[in-house]
Amino acid sequence: MSIDIDDDESSDILVRFPAAVRFIDNGLHPQHESGKSGKSEKSETREDGTTATSTSSPKNGVYVHCAMGKSRSVSCVIAYLLYKYPHRFGGKQFIESPASTQQRRITAKEAVNSALQSVRETRPGAEPNSGFMRQLELWWEMGCPADDDGAVERHPIYQKWLYDGMLQEARDMRMAPDAEQIRFEDEVRAEEKEQDDKTVTQNDAKEVRCKKCRRTLATPNFLVSHTPTGQAASSGCAHIFIDTLSWMRPVLEDGALDGRLVCPNSKCGATVGRFAWQGLQCTCKEWVVPAFSLNRSRVDEVSSRPVGSSAIRMPPGRNGSL
Ligand SMILES: [Zn+2]
Ligand SMILES: [Zn+2]
Repeated sequence: MSIDIDDDESSDILVRFPAAVRFIDNGLHPQHESGKSGKSEKSETREDGTTATSTSSPKNGVYVHCAMGKSRSVSCVIAYLLYKYPHRFGGKQFIESPASTQQRRITAKEAVNSALQSVRETRPGAEPNSGFMRQLELWWEMGCPADDDGAVERHPIYQKWLYDGMLQEARDMRMAPDAEQIRFEDEVRAEEKEQDDKTVTQNDAKEVRCKKCRRTLATPNFLVSHTPTGQAASSGCAHIFIDTLSWMRPVLEDGALDGRLVCPNSKCGATVGRFAWQGLQCTCKEWVVPAFSLNRSRVDEVSSRPVGSSAIRMPPGRNGSL
């Protein structure tokens, strides 16, 4: 098997991992090759079956190489270790929720570093470039999906990573992204939810509404955390950062680098915040890039009920008038 890729931080090695790890696995454990089913039960049998397999068939081996045996080949070997022996590196901890993103990143870093350490025991010079290290973390965050060659390509985390790369390129050129390429998070997640329904709402999460007309501007799942503790905003912050949402479409499709965010209720039209593709600095000094910010003084934060409880929906315009 040959993977044609440069040892460059921006090279996409991630999308090749499913094919690479299955190739390695088939070479080491040819008897397990066909009829594989569910991944989670596989990882258990894989973990237990290891010693048995390697002692019973010592001749099996896969030679993984690149030019220096330092970055590209090591990345593939680490990808394989994470896929094959997840329990050695902390186990799969993938939870889809904005609040858990930071924690997930930390555990992914630890898992990848500890897999790298185990490679270094036999190959001290192992050192994937920083872009590959980040891609390995994403691989872990996704739960090492390798059921088929396109398993990474279809994954929401991969799609988001590609999108962030595109935004980065636009920022480097000091340009707004192409209108057709802008990803409106509420639309993307509605699509994803059709395939996989797992809405997570924190009990104490607040929904953000226009102060003037009470139109909902962002539900808790679309708040972007920016403080080191992972909160959407500390109480002292003047900004509440949110995802790119479809109500911003008219202003974003104009192609401006930054501008005002106006309440989408056409009868209201109040200025509720600002956006800046290059990012904004909050009053707490944290930078958020790109930034879609609601001005705390222009909005109300209202406790929203967890999904599944029987919330009574009032007709538009009637909320709070009782
Ligand atoms: Zn309004
Ligand atoms: Zn802040």
